[in-house]
Amino acid sequence: MQTPNGSKKLIAGRLALDFANLTPAAHDLSWSEFVGFLVNARVVSEERGTRLETLERSEPGAVDTVLLKIRRLRECARAVFSAVEQGREFPKTWVAPINEILRVTEGHDELMAADGRWRLEYVARESGLEWLLAAIARSAAELIVEGHAAPVKRCANPECRLYFYDDSRTRQRRWCSMAVCGNRHKVAAFLKRKSGR
Ligand SMILES: [Zn+2]
Repeated sequence: MQTPNGSKKLIAGRLALDFANLTPAAHDLSWSEFVGFLVNARVVSEERGTRLETLERSEPGAVDTVLLKIRRLRECARAVFSAVEQGREFPKTWVAPINEILRVTEGHDELMAADGRWRLEYVARESGLEWLLAAIARSAAELIVEGHAAPVKRCANPECRLYFYDDSRTRQRRWCSMAVCGNRHKVAAFLKRKSGR
């Protein structure tokens, strides 16, 4: 499926952090970007993603309603994770959008066979579109429960600042990806040393 985020590598290690990393600004997040993210993160299968994309034309009202919730949940996630990362307390009311999704998304996991492999797919009881946010809300809730001990970090590149979960053994990870920001930093530091001589 061709979507702006469809082929982007997810680097955060936690679904809710990858969701918080979705660019650009929240109000620009489109339905197809969101669906592309769900496919990329394997929350839904590609076939399901393709069917979901068509809803923008067949059920524009329902899509608009859930888009508001998607953007609200993303703003909530970014605010909360920013506080967690800095070891700051945050107001209890900030988690309301997460609880709202957890409340309306009763469902269960089911084994599905695809491409010769088994995986768990979330099956919602409700037919509304909020279930699409269930796995993200669950992941955000688990990070909040972990509290300040959760190794939530941001890429040290000031122009990047992507969130990630540092489960490296030494907990010294600084970059979203060594191949992108880490190497850029190494090259810049090298050139600086060279020009300083
Ligand atoms: Zn980065």
